[in-house]
Amino acid sequence: MQRDDTSSTTATQPGNRPVRDLRAWLDRLSETQRLAVARPGVDLTFELAAIAKRLDGQRATYFPKPGGHSVDVISGLLSHRDWMAEAMGVEPSELLTHFQEAVRTPLPCRETTSAPVQEIVHREVDLTRILPSPTHNEFDSGPYVTAGLMISRNPRTGVQNVAIHRLQVSGKDRLGALLLPRHTLAYQQMAEDEGHDLPVAIVIGVDPLTLLASQAIVPVDTDELEIAGALHGQPLDVVKCLTSDIRVPAGAEIVIEGRLLARERALEGPFGEFPQYYGERGERHVVVVDAITHRASPLFHTIVGGGLEHLVLGGIPREATILESLQRSFPGVRDVHLAPGGVCRYHLYVRMRKRVEGEAKNVIFGAFAAHYDVKHVVVVDEDVDIYDPAEVEWAVATRFQADRDLVVVGQSLGSRLDPSTADGLGSKMGLDATRPLAAPEMKFHRIRVPGEADVDLEQAIVSHQWRKFHARD
Ligand code: MN
Repeated sequence: MQRDDTSSTTATQPGNRPVRDLRAWLDRLSETQRLAVARPGVDLTFELAAIAKRLDGQRATYFPKPGGHSVDVISGLLSHRDWMAEAMGVEPSELLTHFQEAVRTPLPCRETTSAPVQEIVHREVDLTRILPSPTHNEFDSGPYVTAGLMISRNPRTGVQNVAIHRLQVSGKDRLGALLLPRHTLAYQQMAEDEGHDLPVAIVIGVDPLTLLASQAIVPVDTDELEIAGALHGQPLDVVKCLTSDIRVPAGAEIVIEGRLLARERALEGPFGEFPQYYGERGERHVVVVDAITHRASPLFHTIVGGGLEHLVLGGIPREATILESLQRSFPGVRDVHLAPGGVCRYHLYVRMRKRVEGEAKNVIFGAFAAHYDVKHVVVVDEDVDIYDPAEVEWAVATRFQADRDLVVVGQSLGSRLDPSTADGLGSKMGLDATRPLAAPEMKFHRIRVPGEADVDLEQAIVSHQWRKFHARD
């Protein structure tokens, strides 16, 4: 059960080279029975999301001509952490360190003029006619673009930023955008302070590694497309937009070119979010669309709000950042996992080799500091599989004593989308479920049946008919 960071059972997987192309990734999923093609024409309201969600984490989905629309829709492309490792060409145990290596060594993009994504150009835009945007959750305000990489440029320096924002289709050429207090908003405020709109490009249908790179936890003025290049092992080809200076991935499926309007807000939401609750309706930023470009027969990627693709995409880059941050101070930390039960944001499991008593509690504080979304931390010993919630529960059940091993910090900053907080203000809890170093060796020695892991059931089991083998009277 336990994963070993140092083992090298590598080189048997197909690939071992990064996947640089969305359609090649779909082929890979298809060849390995991980892609389900739905009946043509499913309804864009709820039915598409319902089918995608039923197959969540097991198979990606392909929807030919949903709602009678001419553009096909895809979903669930990266809803398993092992698939992400496969797309990178590494073992699952190397996923986080490989991603963080790319974050540290970004590769500048390569400018091109031949761009499949600009094969078809619409200057007269009608979002509902051109794009098959679905409606996912019960109380969503309507159709949304959920897998659009919003690219903007620092108005002073021209450095690009990439982020996914939920985008409500509000009219023929209007999108409502939720901008949390991060990098896109910083650029938008710089432009707005000068009285200017901020040009943006919204890129839909990119390769898996560019999608993942967009979620990297990096400082402002770091171009996430350069992290995508590092993951690809070669620079990403980009092309200049038709209506702005923004550079977009040339091989993408669809690009919406537009502007975040200065001093204009409109109602957006509610929208089903990752904590499995609705993000509320409110006055939000507005994108006006100037042009749409796409491939000749484009694919429209949609991420079902709150589904595994949504959770895991945000979870992996956070894990990578937290692991790097913890290992800087605590070399005994082996691995971290943001568990799906904690919506891949709030529950962190840490696996470590404790060297001195008390160290696990310091790790708990380090984890709180590494990302404000982290709410509950469980630290376990090396023999516990942190990817199995039952294993973590077992460690808490048998190695944790509340009066000795519990850490609680009140009134600290958490996630605003956690409805149990007061607009983000809430408490943190840490559980040190490591065994005491001074304990006698056998006291915490896990039972094990020798040979269990090596049993070959094909050889060992010969029948299901017990009476044939029972000695007769
Ligand atoms: Mn950024």
